[in-house]
Amino acid sequence: MAIRYNLLMVSHGQRGSASSQKQKEDNPVEPELIDSQTVSQFECKISGIEIAPGETRAILLKVSESFLSTAISIPVTVIRGWRDGPTAFVTAAVHGDEINGIDIVRRLMFEVDPKKLSGTLIAIPVVNIPGFLEQSRYLPYHRDLNRFFPGKKKGNNAERIAWKIFKEVISKCDFGIDLHTAARGRLNLPHVRGDMSHPMVRTLARAFDTTIIMHHKGLRGSLRKEATRAGVPTILFEAGETGKFSHRISGAGFRGVISVLAEMGMLKKDEKKEAPFQVIVKSSEWIRAEKGGILDLDVKPGDLTYKGDTIGSVLNPFGKTVVEIKAPATGIIVGVTTEPLTIPGTGIIHLARLKKTLAFVERSLRRRKRLDEEKMNLKRRQKDLKSKLKKKKLVLKKAGRTK
Ligand SMILES: [Zn+2]
Repeated sequence: MAIRYNLLMVSHGQRGSASSQKQKEDNPVEPELIDSQTVSQFECKISGIEIAPGETRAILLKVSESFLSTAISIPVTVIRGWRDGPTAFVTAAVHGDEINGIDIVRRLMFEVDPKKLSGTLIAIPVVNIPGFLEQSRYLPYHRDLNRFFPGKKKGNNAERIAWKIFKEVISKCDFGIDLHTAARGRLNLPHVRGDMSHPMVRTLARAFDTTIIMHHKGLRGSLRKEATRAGVPTILFEAGETGKFSHRISGAGFRGVISVLAEMGMLKKDEKKEAPFQVIVKSSEWIRAEKGGILDLDVKPGDLTYKGDTIGSVLNPFGKTVVEIKAPATGIIVGVTTEPLTIPGTGIIHLARLKKTLAFVERSLRRRKRLDEEKMNLKRRQKDLKSKLKKKKLVLKKAGRTK
């Protein structure tokens, strides 16, 4: 079959090659002790390119063209495990300026070993190439790609790109994870969003191991909603802010994706869970400024806030408080503005309301605090012991010299 798009295949370290047949002849990579019965039998093709069991392949998938008549192609890395299993996608930068996910996908591409993988992982670090090049959320003509899935073959520019991604990648998967950050000028607590009424989405979201899971069916045309509707249950990971890498956040995202892959039987399970608690939040709201001025915020993402607490103030240019901002409800702060100025209507904090789960969260946070204090005390005691031993050794050394 003729290759449909303009594709460039590149080898990926020792794992990939220009031809799987050639690779088998020149560089056999099948590990020892493998049971041939367990080797993946299914046909894995992205845009006409076949990926063999145990192979990692980097593919440039053409999705559009630029004003210079050149191809706009998406980098797709396919890691196909030796053994049969589900096919999963992990996408980042559907919004071109949300780059934290790129670092998460990078870690996956280099750390997921096909010898240890059951199934296939399709990793796309940058979905929205024009937006990424401009460091913008949008495609040309100010279109938000995440409102145009599953797309149309003969539609507008965004619909065509969405259609190709959906046809070549999403529709071939069993489940997926879409990585995002907060919009420009905002910072998000790492959390998962998904339609928790869908049993499989629920399993994926719980496995990601964030403290907060926001239940929401998703916006029409968004990748996660349309993929789920098309039979590919998908969750969304939100963390950090636009235009920045954070090792803490990409570490949490990477561990979350690995934990989901393990839950789905694609990798060996590691029982280590890090979140001090996990709650599903059904209601959240943006608390907005009523006055213009300079914002002095007292809270950060992850803080537990009670109804009536002062969460910040709006000051005038003389430094006087114009108004104190009070929390209208009890909940966890999942997002904050990073902009220091307000006008009436500016979103200041995104609050996930806690009702029935409040006591559970309080107990969990107290336990975590106690554990952290115990850990600190232990470290302090170890440090004291070390310095005492050091002193003792010095005294003995001196005594030895004076003899
Ligand atoms: Zn986004």
